[in-house]
Order: sequence, then structure tokens, then C-alpha cells
Amino acid sequence: MSTVIAVETSDVRFPTSRKLDGSDAMNPDPDYSAAYVRVVTDGGDGHEGHGFVFTIGRGNEVETAAIKALVPYVLGRNAEELLADMGATWKLLAHDSQLRWLGPEKGVIHMAIGAVVNALWDLKAKRAGVPLWQLLATMTPEELVDLVDFRYLSDALTRGEALDILRAAVPGREERTAALLAGGYPGYTTTPGWLGYSDEKLARLAREAVAAGFRQIKLKVGADLADDVRRVRTARAAVGPDIKIAVDANQRWDVAEAIEWMKHLAPFDIAWIEEPTSPDDILGHAAIARGVAPIPVATGEHVQNRVVFKQMLQAQALQVLQIDAARVAGVNENVAILLLAAKFGVRVCPHAGGVGLCEAVQHLSMFDFVAVSGTLKGRMIEFVDHLHEHFVTPIDVHDGSYFPPVAPGAGSEMHAASIAEFTFPDGRFWRADAQAQAAPGAGKVLV
Ligand SMILES: [Mg+2]
Repeated sequence: MSTVIAVETSDVRFPTSRKLDGSDAMNPDPDYSAAYVRVVTDGGDGHEGHGFVFTIGRGNEVETAAIKALVPYVLGRNAEELLADMGATWKLLAHDSQLRWLGPEKGVIHMAIGAVVNALWDLKAKRAGVPLWQLLATMTPEELVDLVDFRYLSDALTRGEALDILRAAVPGREERTAALLAGGYPGYTTTPGWLGYSDEKLARLAREAVAAGFRQIKLKVGADLADDVRRVRTARAAVGPDIKIAVDANQRWDVAEAIEWMKHLAPFDIAWIEEPTSPDDILGHAAIARGVAPIPVATGEHVQNRVVFKQMLQAQALQVLQIDAARVAGVNENVAILLLAAKFGVRVCPHAGGVGLCEAVQHLSMFDFVAVSGTLKGRMIEFVDHLHEHFVTPIDVHDGSYFPPVAPGAGSEMHAASIAEFTFPDGRFWRADAQAQAAPGAGKVLV
């Protein structure tokens, strides 16, 4: 038996805004950040659980405080009990009768639950000696449905239907695992498409993406129509007709505006339009989907929980479902969302990038391929080449594909040295930055 003896949080921020990496129409100056949690036990096995919420800078201290509010649920608890029944542990965290008022099941507190839940999954996978995708993909259908809270889902997906989906995918698990290990999981890249980049940089990075084996790139759009037409034309000229180009408006438009704007981009053969409007606007997304067809609508990185995903699917508001490892309440809720997508026959192309999101979400897609949907058709994981060096088990992306992690855990553990350097505001980087800005005539520190 072991006990959780420490639950530590850190407010980690990387100064990405200095180079306009990650800039889009809604978020022009993100500092990619992690509200980070580390779970330590007295098990004596050296294993810790690490999880995080991704944010883009200011407010990361609010997210960190929300994680702290959950500490009493984990600290001092029997670790084996917490890990043995992750469905019960999820409900324990999600249904606190007082904290629930802050959601329910959305926003800062829900994301904080995700960080804690994912840290526990990281610990569970490390103790099992396998990567998270493999841990999930070798669980029985019964064990998997027990992870899911079917409350609010049963009008669209019952426990029995979820079991049927999972049982149907049991044959072939070994073959798909072998195929995954040999050939990887397809990726696509957003690296060329940040709004702050010049046309020359866009064209160069687009060509480099194709040379690196990617079959799809994505461009940020939505700030200025003439600029978007020129940038999409530039990208199409750079990559030729055979590479897919998706566009992402990051919630910039109203419904009619989205439909009108896309008429001007449609001639360039657009693979999908991502986040055209508010992530809460289910009927708006459905109207846009009808208005821009046959261009698919993609969304999910800001969809707050499985209930909104359910309605998006019921309303045919999305054709590409974009799970995010750190937006909803962790692995359990993403298992529910993958099951919903399978029920509705919608492809899943996860949101990634940021800090640690590629490392984390690949496990969910790989699990989905082996044990849920059983297919790679039309599916790919977003890839952005930022900040991977801060992770203990960084992604292995080559030839345009994600190759499965083999190290035990969920991929969410950051190097202690990175945490120490970039903790805000007292880490080495931020202290030096504050001193530099205080000096006469000095500017911000670049990394
Ligand atoms: Mg996006």
C-alpha cells in the first residue's frame, strides 16, 4: 500500500509571444503555459504522476489555484485505491458538491480536474510499466465503459452501445497495435500557418512541411479577408494541389460572416474550417456546416465537455471532432468523447501544439485506433514543433507521422529544470526578464 504524500502545483510560462509563435486571429500574443501538477507517493518505486492544463499566459495562476482546490481529494489518500477505480476517482473529483458550482463541468475548475485525473493516469501507466495508449488499449470493454460517466449522454450513447462499440473493436487489436508501431499515426502541421508570419516565411515553412512528409498543413485565418486570400493562395502555390490545406479562424466570426468569408477561400480547396465561431454555439456551427458544405467544419479544442460534444454530433454541427487532452476533465471524459464520435461515425483529429499537448493527446488517438474506432481513415493529429524539449518523453514525429511512445506514462512529465527555469514569476528566466526590463533602455529577454 502507498499513500499520496505530496501534490505540488507550478505556474510554468514560456515566453513564446516574443517570436509570434502561436499567433492567431483571436490570440495574437500567447505565452504558452502550463498549470502543472505533480503527484508523489511513498510507494518507493520512484514513480510520480504528472499532469497539466495548457493556457496561454495570464490566468495561469488562476488555473493553478483551481488545481490546488482539488488537492484534498488526492493528498493523504491510498494511491492503489485511487488508481484501481479511475471511474470512481473521476466522479469523486467532478462531483464535489461545492466546487461543482464553479462549472458545472466546464471552465477553469473542470480543466483543473483534467490535470489531476491525467496526473493519476500518468502514475497508473508508469506503475504498469506501459505507455498510456497501451494501458487503455489493453483494458477490457467493461473496464473502459466503467471509466465513463454516462449521465447526460444516455439519450445519444448508452453504456450498452458503448460496450458494443468496444467489443466490436476487440478483434484486430493486436494487428492494429503492430501497424501503429511499424507505421505510426498520421500527423499534420500548423507550423507554417501562424498569422504573425510573413508570406515568405509561410511559403518556406509550407514547402518544408511537405518535404518532412506531412500531407496536410493548416493556416490561421480570420483577421483580414484580403490577407487570408493572399496567404491561402501563397500556401497553395507552395504545396501544390495534392497537399490538403485546412484553415482555422479561432472563433473569430459570427455565423453569416463565417459562411461569407469561406466563399472566398473555397476556391483553394480547403480541407476544413476550424473553430469558425463560438465553441458554445451548437446551432451556429450547424448553420455554418450547412452553409459551407462540402467543406467540413472542425471544432473541439474549446468544447468544454462531453455534453456539448454530444449536441454538436446530434446537430451535425461538426464533421471533424477535435479532442484536446487538457480542455475537458482528463482521460476519462476523452474516452467518453471518442465513444460518442465512434457512435456518430465522425472522424477525430485532435488539437495539439501549445505546450505538451502533442505529447499528451497522441495517447488518446492511438488508443482510439487500436480499441475504439479501429480506423485511421481521414484522421491525423495536429503537430507543432514547439517546446517538446521540455518533456521527459518528447514526441517522435518523422515522415509526417507520430510514432507511438514506448516509455511508461502519459507523456505529460516536464523536466524539473524546465519547471525551475520558467516558473512564473520567480523562475530563473522570468527573474532575469524582470531585471532586464527594469534596467534603463533595456527590452525584454529573448529565448
Ligand atoms: Mg485551432
